[in-house]
Amino acid sequence: MKFSNRAMQVKPSATVGVSNRAKAMIRDGIDVINLGIGEPDFTTPKIISQAAIEAIQHGKTSFYTPASGLPELKQAIAHRIAADYGVNYAPEQISVANGAKMALYVIIQALIDEGDEVLMPKPSWVSYSQQVSLAGGRPILVDTNADFKVTPATLSQAVTSRTRLLIINSPQNPTGTVYSKSELQAIGQWAVDHQLLMIADDIYGKLVYNETTFHSLVQCGQKIADATILVNGVSKAYSMTGWRIGYLAAVPEIINKVNAILSHSTGNPATVSQYAAIAAFQSDQHEVEVMRQAFEKRLNTIYPLLQQTPGFHIEQKPAGAFYLFPNVEQAMSIVGVNTSAELVERLLNEAHVALVDGGAFGMPGYLRMSYAAGLEDLKIAVKRINTFMAHYL
Ligand code: PLP
Repeated sequence: MKFSNRAMQVKPSATVGVSNRAKAMIRDGIDVINLGIGEPDFTTPKIISQAAIEAIQHGKTSFYTPASGLPELKQAIAHRIAADYGVNYAPEQISVANGAKMALYVIIQALIDEGDEVLMPKPSWVSYSQQVSLAGGRPILVDTNADFKVTPATLSQAVTSRTRLLIINSPQNPTGTVYSKSELQAIGQWAVDHQLLMIADDIYGKLVYNETTFHSLVQCGQKIADATILVNGVSKAYSMTGWRIGYLAAVPEIINKVNAILSHSTGNPATVSQYAAIAAFQSDQHEVEVMRQAFEKRLNTIYPLLQQTPGFHIEQKPAGAFYLFPNVEQAMSIVGVNTSAELVERLLNEAHVALVDGGAFGMPGYLRMSYAAGLEDLKIAVKRINTFMAHYL
């Protein structure tokens, strides 16, 4: 079969792949603890599901909505952004998509041409580089310091005449790194000076811990905000991964192009999910805070335990998202494997714990462990990893 060059070079998502394998093993009766995917384990809050049930009961299902989302949802998003960020967007500056993943996909389709370069920190979430490649662009992973952050200095080493876009994801997947306001200000100013556009992927913005404050590029003044496309959604903060609602907010010029692409690709996100998302954004955010506190407790429990695991080193305690990203080079030599991918394989088959290879994020020698799982499961998982490592010591 002949496939397009695009299809030939795309790699399936490693995080989805690991999780599917773990789920298949669980179906086969193997007691695997799946810490492979970023999927909150909480049930979607009742008032949100109830809004969807009512939408079905009132027959709000047999029509297409505008491709870029219901006007009421855009209004709710604009209010949410104003409340959370203190920044104002008109509803016409918002597009709703089938998850933040689709929002990112259409932005990249709208902006990136063959050979255009997109800067992203190393490590970065798996889909950025693949989405850029699918558009014919070149993902450029920018070296980071021990704190996994890019700076104007490191960005300056990576920028070329083909650079078009910079992606900042704070809190960051896979490291849990959170940028401060002054760091974002400096990066934003650098990008404006270089006439680059930015994506602020704020999908984990509500999940920051231990007195950390969340800031976004769009809060760094009008010039930086105008050069930034804000991406967010309901998956992580409201435990709504399955509903598939994300959004982007940007200057009208970008929104118009994105909407044209959406109108020929996804049509609209599921109508019922859009009504659920309205309830999520309009809710008093209490349920979000309850889940945030649960994640914080897990981080504070699991981080010191994993730090004591032989061969696992976490350079800095994460401040947000729900991932730990230990360096495992020493663990690899203890076990006698050459790559972190092999270590992941051995941990899945022998310790029955599913993790993701750092190589998927552009950083081999590391593993990603999601703590979007129950506290007891997390403790058992670390115990299993410790027993596995002890066997080779
Ligand atoms: N951005 C980052 C950094 C993510 O980790 C994810 C999901 O894992 C997404 C975007 C996509 O989220 P959604 O479920 O809204 O498509």
